[in-house]
Amino acid sequence: MPSFSETGLSPEILQAITELGYIQPTPVQEEVIPFILENDTDLIALAQTGTGKTAAFGLPLITRLDFNDKSIKGLILSPTRELCIQITKDLQKFGKFNESFKVVPVYGGADIRHQMDMVKKGADIIVGTPGRLVDLLNRGNLNFSRIKWVVLDEADEMLNMGFQEDLHLILGNTPAMKRTMLFSATMPEAIRKIANKFMKNPAEIVIGQRNAGVINVKHEYYMVHAKDRYLALKRVADMNPGVYGIVFCRTRQETKEVAEKLIQDGYNADALHGDLSQAQREHVMNKFRTRHLRMLVATDVAARGLDVNDLTHVINYNLPDDLEVYIHRSGRTGRAGKTGISVSIIHTKEGNKIKDLAKMAKIEFLRKDVPGGKEICEKQLFHLIDKMENIEVNQEQIDGFLPAIYSKLSWLSREELIQRFVSVEFNRFLEYYENAPDINVKHETKEQGRRDSREVKFTRFFINAGKVDQLTKQGLMGMVNDVTRNKQILIGKIEILRKFSFFEIENDYVQLVEKAFNQANTEGFEYKVEISEGEIFSQDEVVRKKKKSAPSYEPKSSFGGRFDRNFKPRGDDSRKGRPEKKFKKPGTSKYRG
Ligand code: AMP
Repeated sequence: MPSFSETGLSPEILQAITELGYIQPTPVQEEVIPFILENDTDLIALAQTGTGKTAAFGLPLITRLDFNDKSIKGLILSPTRELCIQITKDLQKFGKFNESFKVVPVYGGADIRHQMDMVKKGADIIVGTPGRLVDLLNRGNLNFSRIKWVVLDEADEMLNMGFQEDLHLILGNTPAMKRTMLFSATMPEAIRKIANKFMKNPAEIVIGQRNAGVINVKHEYYMVHAKDRYLALKRVADMNPGVYGIVFCRTRQETKEVAEKLIQDGYNADALHGDLSQAQREHVMNKFRTRHLRMLVATDVAARGLDVNDLTHVINYNLPDDLEVYIHRSGRTGRAGKTGISVSIIHTKEGNKIKDLAKMAKIEFLRKDVPGGKEICEKQLFHLIDKMENIEVNQEQIDGFLPAIYSKLSWLSREELIQRFVSVEFNRFLEYYENAPDINVKHETKEQGRRDSREVKFTRFFINAGKVDQLTKQGLMGMVNDVTRNKQILIGKIEILRKFSFFEIENDYVQLVEKAFNQANTEGFEYKVEISEGEIFSQDEVVRKKKKSAPSYEPKSSFGGRFDRNFKPRGDDSRKGRPEKKFKKPGTSKYRG
């Protein structure tokens, strides 16, 4: 499709997009706009965020609205309040020249009565978050009986956020004859189920590869020891003086820690996580949007709905367990036709995870060496020089001061002057990176790996979770990291058996690990962990030994200790015997495969 004007969009819409400066439709718009204008079938469109999806459904929807009909005709569901507001603003811009066009956003965390009033005054399209929509439906405040179009935007995110039930309820309140359009970056099974239940023979439009990353994004990774992760982050930031990106962390705690360290070290950074109030959250996001912050350290959940288009970098301070999460994260850069870099800082045991990600998402990862001090200093220096060359001199403002400055500096030669100006800005880097060590993990041979691991002594732990609990090696490592809040602990061999598992912890951290799990247990953590003795056995051996004698896999102390309040031994069906979970660690399911 060469231009917007040939699509059948209304003259008012064409006028609006000309004003917005849209010249050429994006690939998703090329496919979706004519489809919505010319068809009445349901639609599943797989496309990344930032590819122009909002206009892809918004422009044809507004074109097709019958403005004589005063009922609500379109419903757009969005996973987050920020996206909801963004979509509304976009639609208002698209409908600017359709005088009677009205779009009303409804989302949580804002005055519901005001939203009820707005709805009452009439709307062509409602844009809402699932929770608030359910609330309004329950209050009898929304009449969806004449809805003609429903759009599920970022449907995969909505499911990730646990809105499945709300979706069912909302869609159940819309007429059977409506048309449903689902937009998603990925196509997990749960979306397929929603589509099967609520859509009628949907057409599928796939932009780029299914479940694939954005093509404008380069994927790079650095391999360091877990203890050097933060140093690596700093070096990546220092090597990219114009960095404007999100640093993704696993937990709130880690988010806070990393942001605090960055701030202390003089970076324009801040944290975005679930412990912030809505006002604090808005404040941080605004600072980031206006680029007063160069690095936003965030959890996946907190960063949802943050609509920033021109990020230079997405930095994975930790690799997510989930392929889709990686794709979502990296899709936050390389938007609106720009290029971006998704950087992952991984430790030695995550090499395979990179390979898996590359294979599953069909993306190419480039392993890069963490830059050394000399390289970084050079980069920073030339950035500074470039900046100086390109700076606009405000002659009028400084003219008055210059004679005095010239006279004060007259004793310095040209070379000395340059040296001093450069040093004012640059000494911080020179000092910091003087003698900076190489923190790259060398591409080691198997033999070296074995030799290194022989030098570290490990203690073996038992945990009462195994394959039946869908525990994975990666999940177990994450659990140790989360519970101890310490990522420097070296974890040795891990064996996941059917109902329980073993893992090795380097001896220096044994007490810390024991204490951390005990502490977690008092708070209702769902698994028990104990030091174990003897060799690691296969499941069969364990069962045989158990029958014969006192099992050597039994932990030193039995589970009848002081943290046993919740624990009931499992019967044959391990799930039935599971303790009531008083407290489930946020994202506990991430330990599962
Ligand atoms: P979205 O995927 O809807 O969040 O859009 C991403 C960004 O691309 C937004 O800032 C849009 O304003 C912009 N955009 C959408 N379509 C076009 C287009 N055809 N030409 C230029 N920019 C666009």
